[in-house]
Amino acid sequence: MKYEWIDEYLMTKPGVIRDLQREWNWIRYKLGSKMFAAICRDDNTNEPYYITMKLEPMQAEALRSEYEDIIPGYYMNKVNWNSVKADGNVPDDLLKNMLDDAYAIVLESFSKKKQAEILASEPIIIDTRCGLHCYNCEYKEPCNCGGCIETNGHPFHGECPVAICCQEKRHMHCGECSTFPCGLLLQYTNDPEQGDNPPGLRIEQCKGWCERSIK
Ligand code: SF4
Ligand code: SF4
Repeated sequence: MKYEWIDEYLMTKPGVIRDLQREWNWIRYKLGSKMFAAICRDDNTNEPYYITMKLEPMQAEALRSEYEDIIPGYYMNKVNWNSVKADGNVPDDLLKNMLDDAYAIVLESFSKKKQAEILASEPIIIDTRCGLHCYNCEYKEPCNCGGCIETNGHPFHGECPVAICCQEKRHMHCGECSTFPCGLLLQYTNDPEQGDNPPGLRIEQCKGWCERSIK
């Protein structure tokens, strides 16, 4: 993809939540539970093919008529969503403006109180099912772990029952589950050798992810 800067750019915005919708293979950028942009990736190569974002309909129509690489939202509502070809000719500055607008549109859809909360909060990444983080995991690099979401529940040590369970229940992470924290999750959390440090880390992280995802 031409636009390698997108993830870093979006993750500097206050309150952004990034996750991976594995079934679609979309990296989603959200405020609360509302998506404002996504990178749509090929299932086989993980190469991005569209960058999708929300835009005001009239602005979108004008842009589509000017740039053939901007099309109505791929697998989205065609009025409010638009997709930019990842290897197209839309200038970087224009794409940045479009992503800024998408962020602003969704931000403004919240109450003033919620907007203030979002603007005061750090971006977060939801990158596991159980509440841990891959980006600071000691096993990621040495064990070449692909991550439990990316690998459909098969991190470096083999099938993870927590990740598989969560995936089968169609939750983004265990915190969304009605039986959270279940015995299985607690067993992993409190494992004498591989458990959380500090204790209960993944449980607290899941709770935090839930709080931040409130509409
Ligand atoms: S073991 Fe793998 S899936 Fe689990 S947190 Fe570490 S990097 Fe992520
Ligand atoms: S909390 Fe337990 S039951 Fe719920 S998704 Fe996670 S592992 Fe499965």
